[in-house]
Amino acid sequence: MEYKRLPLYGGASLFKMNKNSYKLGVHLFRGGRSILEDIKLLRINTAQLFSGSPRSYRPTNEKLPVFPFNSVFIHAPYVVNIASPDEKVFNLSIKKVIEELKLAEELEWEGLIIHPGSSKKMGKEVAKRNFFKALEKILEEDIKAKLIVENSAGEGDGWGSTLEDFYSIHEEFPSIYFCIDTCHLFAAGYNLKNPRVCKETFYSFFERIPVEKLVLIHINDSHFPLGSHRDQHAHIGKGAIGIGGFKNLLSIPEIRKIPLILETPKDSPMADLYNLHTIRKILENSD
Ligand SMILES: [Zn+2]
Repeated sequence: MEYKRLPLYGGASLFKMNKNSYKLGVHLFRGGRSILEDIKLLRINTAQLFSGSPRSYRPTNEKLPVFPFNSVFIHAPYVVNIASPDEKVFNLSIKKVIEELKLAEELEWEGLIIHPGSSKKMGKEVAKRNFFKALEKILEEDIKAKLIVENSAGEGDGWGSTLEDFYSIHEEFPSIYFCIDTCHLFAAGYNLKNPRVCKETFYSFFERIPVEKLVLIHINDSHFPLGSHRDQHAHIGKGAIGIGGFKNLLSIPEIRKIPLILETPKDSPMADLYNLHTIRKILENSD
């Protein structure tokens, strides 16, 4: 893919030919500008989206956009909770996950991202048990698209915020893939600001789970401090992780090969451009 310098920023080209092999994108919301216009404007080569309403189990009746690349991830709607102790929610969630996986397969997209979920005050063990039960059912289907579990911030009875939780998923279900959200990781107590801790966290992961299983990084700063177990994303460099934390993260060669997708606030028309620019600057100066 050829990138042209965006006149907006001036100065040296944002892309140097030998350094643009990384995949960088954003979560795209449909509506307003077309997705293709967004892709052109933002110069992204990977993306994430909801296939329909994020607050409904119903399938979308809108036509999904055609992307100029296959590195597209569907994020499951917020109502999906496969760890739920409520039978209705549990079953609807499983059905929705299967539907979305089939959709990703049909469109030849990467896969579907789900959250570990919560047992709504019945404890993390119940959540984990339900989650495992749900995965067993989902994996009975023979679907090629990847089922990707994202780490949580460990709020309330949400589980799946620790590396150990990931190891247990991998041991039980080796076909599952993973996404690490930097905001959630930091909120769960992993100090990405410290270069040693940042490296150790990822290399501990890679010791137990093959690097090919980590297929996506949600690259978000955190509004709340280390270990707060609160999930609120902030603009890159404007939150508690800060530029130093992202420099640590992107100095890990394995991480630079994984698609990086921003889920930062879209509170101004320039927000995505600002955050992408900040990450590109780090990626291109840290070799
Ligand atoms: Zn995320």
